[in-house]
Amino acid sequence: MPENKPRRLVIAIDGPAGAGKSTVAARVARKHGYLNIETGAMYRALALKAIQNDVSFDEEAELLDLAQRSKIDLQPQVDGNRVLLDGENVSARIREQDVTDAASRVSVHARVREWMVMLQRRMGERGGVVMEGRDIGTKVFPDAEVKIFLEASPEVRGERRFKQHQLGTAEQQAAVISELRKRDERDRTRAASPLEPAPDAIILDTTPLSLDEVIARVEEVVEAKIKATGD
Ligand code: C5P
Repeated sequence: MPENKPRRLVIAIDGPAGAGKSTVAARVARKHGYLNIETGAMYRALALKAIQNDVSFDEEAELLDLAQRSKIDLQPQVDGNRVLLDGENVSARIREQDVTDAASRVSVHARVREWMVMLQRRMGERGGVVMEGRDIGTKVFPDAEVKIFLEASPEVRGERRFKQHQLGTAEQQAAVISELRKRDERDRTRAASPLEPAPDAIILDTTPLSLDEVIARVEEVVEAKIKATGD
């Protein structure tokens, strides 16, 4: 039987925390019947396991060993990923502050990243995925058909997170912004796969845009690519 379906793309969405990657990835995936894969959840799950096992976030070899002995499953849902660590649903726990901070520390290690990248490539190798993270367009899928890099000012990103977590006080908002800056700094300056746009990524500054506007722009790019590659 002749295959007449358009090729199912790999769509890479990268950018700093709070730029809207997860929401955009989930919406675009839903529209096209693709899987949305949040790679940050894998680093978060490993960070949680390190906390549970008292492994230092600076010990690359021990962290790699822990990663290799862990089963991290991402189950794409309509609005995000359900995350199972060794069979246990840790989706809510991995969003807490201690794990968030630890994830940004365990992810600096080159060998830990290599292991995660290998798993991520396996998840996306057949296409039909919207994969979001920090290094998808540069490292995980350098040949991805669509590469989007979402940016936004730290203030706006902080405000979005603030609303998302329904926090109350100005001090809490300031703390969220300062935490985002710290994580960004670590992601951008690490030696292994630092956070940076791929040379061929489309950079979208979402600071002045609503979520619907961001999704509309991303959709334009995706639709154009589907037309260009479909037969
Ligand atoms: O995207 P999320 O905020 O859940 O990611 C948690 C942490 O994992 C980030 O702060 C970043 O340090 C790391 N990460 C990464 N590479 C990815 C995804 C996430 O280094 N592809």
